[in-house]
Amino acid sequence: MTSAARFPVLIDAPQGADAVLEGLDPEQREVATALHGPVCVLAGAGTGKTRAITHRIAYGIRAGVMQPGSVLALTFTNRAAGEMRGRLRQLGAAGVQARTFHSAALRQLQFFWPRAVGGELPRLLERKVQLVAEAAARSRIRLDRSELRDVTGEIEWAKVTQTVPEEYPKAIADSGREAPRDPAETAGIYGAYEQLKRDRGAIDFEDVLLLTVGVLQDRPDIADRVREQYQHFVVDEYQDVSPLQQRLLELWLGGRESVCVVGDASQTIYSFTGATPEHLLDFPARHPDATVVRLVRDYRSTPQVVHLANGLLSQAVGRGAEQRLELVSQRDPGPEPGFVEYPDEPTEAEGVARGIRELLESGVSAGEIAVLYRINAQSEVYEQALADQGVPYQLQGAERFFERAEVREAGVALRGAARAGDNDPLLQETVGLAAQVRAVLGTKGWTTEPPAGSGAVRDRWESLAALVRLAEDFGRARPEAKLGDLVAELDERANAQHAPTIEGVTLASLHAAKGLEWDAVFLVGLSEGMMPITHAKTAEQVEEERRLLYVGVTRARAHLTLSWSLSRTPGGRAGRRPSRFLSGLVPGAGSGPAARGGARSGGNGDRAGGRRRKRGPLRCRVCGRGLTDAGEMKLMRCEGCPSDLDEALYERLRDWRLERARQLGQPAYCVFTDKTLMAIAEAVPEDASQLALIAGVGRRKLDRFGDEVLALCAGEEPVAHERESAGGTAAESGATDTDT
Ligand code: ATP
Ligand code: MG
Repeated sequence: MTSAARFPVLIDAPQGADAVLEGLDPEQREVATALHGPVCVLAGAGTGKTRAITHRIAYGIRAGVMQPGSVLALTFTNRAAGEMRGRLRQLGAAGVQARTFHSAALRQLQFFWPRAVGGELPRLLERKVQLVAEAAARSRIRLDRSELRDVTGEIEWAKVTQTVPEEYPKAIADSGREAPRDPAETAGIYGAYEQLKRDRGAIDFEDVLLLTVGVLQDRPDIADRVREQYQHFVVDEYQDVSPLQQRLLELWLGGRESVCVVGDASQTIYSFTGATPEHLLDFPARHPDATVVRLVRDYRSTPQVVHLANGLLSQAVGRGAEQRLELVSQRDPGPEPGFVEYPDEPTEAEGVARGIRELLESGVSAGEIAVLYRINAQSEVYEQALADQGVPYQLQGAERFFERAEVREAGVALRGAARAGDNDPLLQETVGLAAQVRAVLGTKGWTTEPPAGSGAVRDRWESLAALVRLAEDFGRARPEAKLGDLVAELDERANAQHAPTIEGVTLASLHAAKGLEWDAVFLVGLSEGMMPITHAKTAEQVEEERRLLYVGVTRARAHLTLSWSLSRTPGGRAGRRPSRFLSGLVPGAGSGPAARGGARSGGNGDRAGGRRRKRGPLRCRVCGRGLTDAGEMKLMRCEGCPSDLDEALYERLRDWRLERARQLGQPAYCVFTDKTLMAIAEAVPEDASQLALIAGVGRRKLDRFGDEVLALCAGEEPVAHERESAGGTAAESGATDTDT
């Protein structure tokens, strides 16, 4: 196949290479036009680094210097790689490989394994922890959860720094790092882990890179093949490159100079995996002929957000900090960032969910809002709170879109249609890509309007609708694309696990938010212990936590709210303090933790908090133990304690919920979550005050559904509230609600 046939978009795209440069400022343009030789961009958040490198690739292709298939664009998360592919496609540079180091290596390894080693590539381990626990047991060492996490982290560090078990103790001593436990013991577990893994015929995440490095080092013939294919390299977020990834990059380059790296040392957040900004900061020294560009104009965020980001960073110390550049916002002023203190976590989550509803009502779309937290375990209370407010959300990293049965089925149907239809130019011209996709998915259950109802049928429809949206976007970006091209794109995305956006509020960890942006960002749980996290002990680790918060702050375009709570559970001891990083940043307060005096209080007493019923510390209804887990709090008992669930009532409640969600045109969880229904079916409340005690039954829910639920509990037929029987979307029904 000729390259023109593979990349028809280039033929149709405007020929003028310079057109790509419009929309870049002079420094970004310098990056985009430096097509020969090494380039290094050292720049802060939101200054257009990703924009500059995607334009550089598009410019290089149009100028005829790069062939799309010869470019390898590298980054660190699947979502960022997907984002890069999207931007490249819009610039008419489809066909460029934009991948994570890991996925690029895996692809090459799969391809060359039969030749380099023989047979199939061993199976890839999804998670290490289980095997590490077994390895420890073999070494007669018992590890609790946090010890297990520490040891697993050490094994990962050792592997990305290319340290074998026997050399681990010395490597620790040389690195000056404080090991979490006796290095000799860790080395023993590490060795046992490697052995176990071999015995089971498996490889782990780091092995993918290690093996690729091994093959490229030992087999010049294979290295030559790879180098023949890839001639131009671009690395985004280069501050987070690990020594192993750096080694791989050098092997790919094989001494050639066509490499462009961009990064921000102030956003180094993966040191714990062995990543280091040294490679970025030393790049100009290693490549004295490199074009070095610094960008300072922040195009992403308002002056208010940028001011906060600069303030946060001005307190940073360490090597990256010395080189930091003060950002200058290019945007019009926006709202001041909010600082809100709450008495406890569920109240914080409720407050955030209410803030989100207000934004939705003011016209911000759900897809433009994110809640970012330090660790994934924090998501649950926010999932609950958003569900309680009827706000759709998506958990980043949690949705395995392309693994869903309906998505796989749709893929098979589209592939069949592509085979039949791509040879038929008439069909192509008369029907168009999106229409063809709608027709094919129509046979699989897609309809123009969402089905009345929720549950499995609605979920299936949502998946198919996401595919239709994807096809529409794809068709817009590549008007000449055929169904076969779309199928190839879907395969590509499936491989990269990059799901199309489902319109909902994003819940993500700060680590997963790197490189992304939203109109509104809520940074939650900002108390000591969580930010910085308890296990950040050394000064360096604390600095990394500060950078993590900086990454969070700089994700916001306009609306930014920072919040924390004084205790974990309602009625618990208010022993927490706001994050030390907020000192001196909260307006109207002096420095020091007392800064919270200037913060808005979201607790009991303010407009929102005053409405909240007062809760004592929540205890298990069965054994009386104090509850801290959000799921258990919702059930009002320990997961393990015997349940007195009224099964028949639970079934009736579920049927009612299905019907109600159908009327409202909302997902079922927006009416009540399963856990709430279970808690109701266990407690069988007799009146509104008893019902109100159940977690997940807020004031709004009580007003809307209380009578119906109580009727069901009393064994009667529920009568729906008239006001809502006309239905409507989540936002509409919210707007008619009496939530003041
Ligand atoms: P991060 O460090 O967070 O990864 P970044 O430096 O990669 O940020 P981008 O994501 O490329 O920044 O750009 C931030 C936002 O600013 C994007 O929405 C981008 O489209 C916009 N932007 C960048 N440069 C310009 C420009 N010259 N004109 C208009 N908008 C721009
Ligand atoms: Mg970027």
